[in-house]
Amino acid sequence: MLPFKLVYHEGYDLRLGEHVFRSQKFRMVRDLVLAEHIAEPADIVAPEPATNDDILRVHTREWVDKVLHDKLSASERMRLEIPYSEAVVRGFWLAAGGSILAARSALKDGFGFNIGGGFHHAFPGHGEGFCMIHDFAVAIRRLQTDGAVRKVLVVDTDVHQGNGTAAIFANDADVFTLSLHQENNYPEPKPPSDLDVNLADGTGDDEYLELLDKALAEAFRRFDPELIFYIAGADPYREDQLGGLWLSIRGLQQRDALVFAETRLRGLPVAVAFAGGYARKVEDTVRIHANTVIAAREAAATARVTGANP
Ligand SMILES: [Zn+2]
Repeated sequence: MLPFKLVYHEGYDLRLGEHVFRSQKFRMVRDLVLAEHIAEPADIVAPEPATNDDILRVHTREWVDKVLHDKLSASERMRLEIPYSEAVVRGFWLAAGGSILAARSALKDGFGFNIGGGFHHAFPGHGEGFCMIHDFAVAIRRLQTDGAVRKVLVVDTDVHQGNGTAAIFANDADVFTLSLHQENNYPEPKPPSDLDVNLADGTGDDEYLELLDKALAEAFRRFDPELIFYIAGADPYREDQLGGLWLSIRGLQQRDALVFAETRLRGLPVAVAFAGGYARKVEDTVRIHANTVIAAREAAATARVTGANP
């Protein structure tokens, strides 16, 4: 058994058909961690969809109404870059519920995984880049409302800058946003995070890990969080179709280990969401995500951490 929970729901598959975002990857990660006995069935818990009240702590009523009642304009659909369907809407509500549950699990067990989510390009009033609803912003707001945490650090290592996250928490001293991403890539423009690390095309393992180490040190110098939300995108991988960095699968595993070592050192709980990953071979994306679970298991074995509110 794992010393923490994996949150997963069949509805995470948005059933997009032929699409570069292969949302069936979430099910494939679940299948792989079970097949390789990284996790047991009892380690996996299903979320409830977030409530509309939860969603409305981040998103505008206008956007939520449009999404719920299929009233998106042609340009709004185009910006989203995924087809609209009821399965898609339900998938995003489930992803937000999943990130709430993962964050609560992290406070209890030290780690909590959403085997989905990480939709960091959603803004309060619109969706873009495959992201309709900002699941982990919803989770942060829900936990703050419950009084479970106040100060949260977002560590976003997806290859694309976390523009929605930056916009949502722009003037919020309680949420520090760190984004490490490829500079010459979507999104454009990039609203400023509290700390942005703009990486050159083709950045490889060693340079990446050094810059991540420095960025984490700076974030912890400037901010004293109670919870980390780690957005573990698989798309800095050199075989990614939507990325231009040059990380190896091993380098990505070292990235995860570095993040978990830094947080464990400080006794901080970590909630994880998966975000992007568009490798030519979907199996590579799935392997990279499963490795993040293994890295957390290894970090947890070194020293069990528990949150401030068990
Ligand atoms: Zn991405």
